[in-house]
Amino acid sequence: MVARIRALIIVLIASACAAPALAQAPGAEPIRYTLSFPAPQTHYVEVSAAVPTGGQPQIDLMMAVWTPGSYMIREYSRHVEGVSASGAGGRALEVGKSAKNRWRVTTGGAPTVTVKYRVYGREMSVRTNWIEADFAVLNGAPTFLTLAGATKRPHEVVIEPARGWRRSMTGLPEMSGGEHRYRAPDYDTLVDSPIAVGNPDVKEFTVDGKKHYLVNIGDIRNWDGTRAAKDFETLVQAQRAMWGSLPYDKYVVLNVASIVAGQAGGGLEHLNSTMLMVSPNATRTRPAYLTWLELLSHELFHVWNVKRLRPVELGPFDYENEVYTRSLWIAEGITEYYSLVLLHRSGLSTIEELLESLSSEIDTLQATPGRLVNSAAAASFDAWIKYYRPDENSANTAISYYTKGVVIGLLLDARIRKATGGARSLDDAMRAAYQKYSGARGYTPDEFRAVVEQVAGTSLKAFWDTAVDGTAELEYAEALETFGLRFRPASSGSAYHGMTTRNDAGRLVVTQVRRGTPAYEAGINVDDEILGIDEVRVRAEQFLARTNLYKSGDKVTLLVARRDQIKRIEIAFGAESPRQWRLEANPGASPAQTENRSTWLQQAA
Ligand SMILES: [Zn+2]
Repeated sequence: MVARIRALIIVLIASACAAPALAQAPGAEPIRYTLSFPAPQTHYVEVSAAVPTGGQPQIDLMMAVWTPGSYMIREYSRHVEGVSASGAGGRALEVGKSAKNRWRVTTGGAPTVTVKYRVYGREMSVRTNWIEADFAVLNGAPTFLTLAGATKRPHEVVIEPARGWRRSMTGLPEMSGGEHRYRAPDYDTLVDSPIAVGNPDVKEFTVDGKKHYLVNIGDIRNWDGTRAAKDFETLVQAQRAMWGSLPYDKYVVLNVASIVAGQAGGGLEHLNSTMLMVSPNATRTRPAYLTWLELLSHELFHVWNVKRLRPVELGPFDYENEVYTRSLWIAEGITEYYSLVLLHRSGLSTIEELLESLSSEIDTLQATPGRLVNSAAAASFDAWIKYYRPDENSANTAISYYTKGVVIGLLLDARIRKATGGARSLDDAMRAAYQKYSGARGYTPDEFRAVVEQVAGTSLKAFWDTAVDGTAELEYAEALETFGLRFRPASSGSAYHGMTTRNDAGRLVVTQVRRGTPAYEAGINVDDEILGIDEVRVRAEQFLARTNLYKSGDKVTLLVARRDQIKRIEIAFGAESPRQWRLEANPGASPAQTENRSTWLQQAA
């Protein structure tokens, strides 16, 4: 929060056309928004904003092109329409576009202008807006036009819920004068505080005198809100135990039960809230509920790691351009590592579930050829063009800084514990980094490394070179040894081809070919339709059963259709990776190793 002071300098340099003089003075006059939903079934929110002009003849209004925490340019202004402005007495003022996401209003000297526009919202994601007959979930970046270069002023929001809607919920501070009135101290806070309006089921509890809200909205008929809120409270206690205190006044979980089969859910972190997109049935089965708990744990951990302890580049934000950082493996990967570990420490997951989750991260990394091309630091930097814009070749050319970051977290935790004879851990390093860098500026990669090395009491240069900046294979032996774990013994390799396929209405179509695999070497292409194996028809639903008939080393001829041309392609099956990346407790672990493992898995007293 304190970090935002630098925004002024950056914004002023970036936008000479704005009205800087009036902009940043303490006590600057607020922009006052009113949101209304006269016809929510048409997916529109109507926005009216009273914008102070400071007497400038022209003002520039800006809409963000991306949302912090989700590193992709999304061009939210494409959903804005009908921008108009009026001055005193309702006199119409001239409004014109000055950039893809900017509007210039000729004020005629009016001290305040009223700007009106509509925003279409029918994209169900944690970054965008969704408006329908029953409810709305709104994010700041795709909703609010603000004064370009003058964002440090308060932004007030009054919500007029649609007919039949009773409640609005957000992390924004409430403003006096009645319901549905909020006041953000600045634009950053507004963008950082999504809003839900409708008739949510709200569960509350208090920890350390601070209110926590689980706001269940969407299709919540099957949602067990009572159980979810109880486990949320347990999780808050566990994360508080790790960090020492809760750094917010209130915390709001906007839990949108909306995901239909085939859609991916997700969450986005905010300063004192989060928005989650989840399956309406997630409390019905253990695997789905565990996924929800992991998501909640991840977003909650972000309260500390990234919303306060942050890479120097991630705030104050330039909302109109990409912001590059090499540290997303810390911001996201280490967060995901702790989301899993703290879930177990809080008693909400079993040791088997923790090890399974860690194993699947290791397995994913080791099955991704891109790990030998793309480092964790480089993957972080290129999030804008790689992680958020995957294609059929992504696995060959990139890794996820989430996945590799989790594995780095595990290895680094083990390294620190080993180096200090079990006296210190990654927990200590994260707390030390928080103490030092959760203030105004954030950390550079070198500063974060220095803090960790100080806690470890030793240089970790070789570790950073390999695990963070390098693309060589990671070494797991030390972590296994430290925590008394092992990889499950390998079974004999079955026939392996290295392509993934989809069932396209019965057609068997190749969707991905991993580098270095038999399919890659044989020249199978993405979008090839596999028609037969050794001159016998193969249907999509039979593919696995048919390939299971072969063993490593067998050669077959695939009949494929490639852009309607029939081809015969020989392929020699290989062996599935001889290692199974499945962690389990090593039955031969020494008493010291067993002790390390239980310390790792225990909540701080
Ligand atoms: Zn995250």
